[in-house]
Amino acid sequence: PTPLLQVNDLVKHFPVRGRGPAQMLRAVDGVSFTVNAGETVGVVGESGCGKSTVARLVVGLTKPTSGSVLVEGGDIWARGKEGAERRRRMQMVFQNPTGSMNPRRTVGDAVAEPLQVLRAPGIRAKVEETLSLVGLKPEMADRMPHEMSGGQQQRAAIARAMISNPALVVHDESVASLDISLQAQILNLLVDLQDRLGTAYLFISHDLAAVQAISHRVVVMYLGEVVESATAVEFAARPLHPYSVALRRAALLPDPEIEQSRVEVGLTGDVPSPLNPPSGCRFRTRCPYAEQKCADEKPALRPAQDGHYVACHFAGIATATTALEGAS
Ligand code: SF4
Ligand code: MG
Repeated sequence: PTPLLQVNDLVKHFPVRGRGPAQMLRAVDGVSFTVNAGETVGVVGESGCGKSTVARLVVGLTKPTSGSVLVEGGDIWARGKEGAERRRRMQMVFQNPTGSMNPRRTVGDAVAEPLQVLRAPGIRAKVEETLSLVGLKPEMADRMPHEMSGGQQQRAAIARAMISNPALVVHDESVASLDISLQAQILNLLVDLQDRLGTAYLFISHDLAAVQAISHRVVVMYLGEVVESATAVEFAARPLHPYSVALRRAALLPDPEIEQSRVEVGLTGDVPSPLNPPSGCRFRTRCPYAEQKCADEKPALRPAQDGHYVACHFAGIATATTALEGAS
């Protein structure tokens, strides 16, 4: 069957004008992946890897420089009604729920917004039903956003995303601003809603633990590119890219040891600028296994085994086992 979402060789470059010649910020540089109906695909990477740009490209908040986003087999930028209807099949939940709600309008009006009619028969009932679905009391519809807690606001943002019965909801760091127990509650809510309604999620986060907890498949991004993708089970057992191993290791270790682990696995220093990414493998400036070949030749994203893809000349050189041994 056709995947619900197909992202094909997506590129987004932003021109940056400084004093010198115009430069291109290569935020997203040839990203492909699919999401099936009812599935959760997690996209993980450090800040600046292009994952928020991917989120905006997927829901159609921004147009790609090249490449395409297909929903149910059709381009979201098809002319006229066709493209607009496909874009409406997707909704987004942002990190900061208050930022996406008008402070002078009631929560109920904010939640009803994707329906594009605020005062019609049945709208109020639909809003109340959707609020209940996300664990909020129906009376919350009359509150103002600032009268809710952070967790309640994020539930309302989820209600707004779900009210139009979208096929896919993109979560861009949607639990990042919540404390750890609220994060767990929201992740449980998302799983519960998916079980009941069959909504697919693209779950974008810097937090590998959250991504692994909720995703069926995991996509790892580094400097605008996908470096690895696999089922969550396979990824947990055998991450093959040195960057993935480093991320996993940092996520596994208790806080005080994280800095040390970063030194050992090479996550030292800053992510290089997407204005001027390294030649060959973009991870090579931070990779402890880098060799001359890594500077000379860009590693393609290749299948390592069924459904597991990795872009590294020496895939598997840093193994989950060494990461786990190092952690104990
Ligand atoms: Fe490291 Fe080379 Fe693999 Fe890149 S291609 S991750 S530099 S070993
Ligand atoms: Mg971001």
